[in-house]
Amino acid sequence: MYNSEEILAILKAKDALLEGHFRLTSGRHAAYYMQCAKLLQYPDAAGPLCEQLAGQFADEHIDTVVGPATGAIIIAYEVARALKTKALFTERENGVMCLRRGFEIKPGSRVLVVEDVVTTGGSVKEVIEVVRGFGAEVAGVGVLVDRSNGKIDFGVPLKALVSLEIESFPPENCPLCKEGKLELVKPGSRQIKP
Ligand code: ZN
Repeated sequence: MYNSEEILAILKAKDALLEGHFRLTSGRHAAYYMQCAKLLQYPDAAGPLCEQLAGQFADEHIDTVVGPATGAIIIAYEVARALKTKALFTERENGVMCLRRGFEIKPGSRVLVVEDVVTTGGSVKEVIEVVRGFGAEVAGVGVLVDRSNGKIDFGVPLKALVSLEIESFPPENCPLCKEGKLELVKPGSRQIKP
């Protein structure tokens, strides 16, 4: 079992959690940036974390694990491997979350919804609606990283491997800008120095 510190250390080691001075898509600045896909590059690292997440639902009689594409595809797959169930993913068609590719959820089955990171939980809520649309029961939501600061209520049990609050600031009020030591970086747009 990994504790929160060890999980954060793994995320940092795989560059899924970067420290620095970042301009977020929102325009706000932050000292941390998360890109879970960086972790999912490494099955050796991601597999055991997903297994630990699955363990939190071991007694829930899960029939199916489902998560939203693309971030949760690998997580659903690894969690389902540990729970010995099947893994599905939802995707958007004309902006509407749905199951495609002939995927089906049996009415009355117990479904675990998974996601890499939740902040507002919008995608997860949409997946929950998809599951219920098949007449199945959402047994819980499992996420690798909960960034919601305890603000989300899905109406079903939410379990996270680790909770992480990333504070962000408007540019004019950014302590990192004021300090002036770290160059502002737009994640993904350039090489980030260690
Ligand atoms: Zn700044």
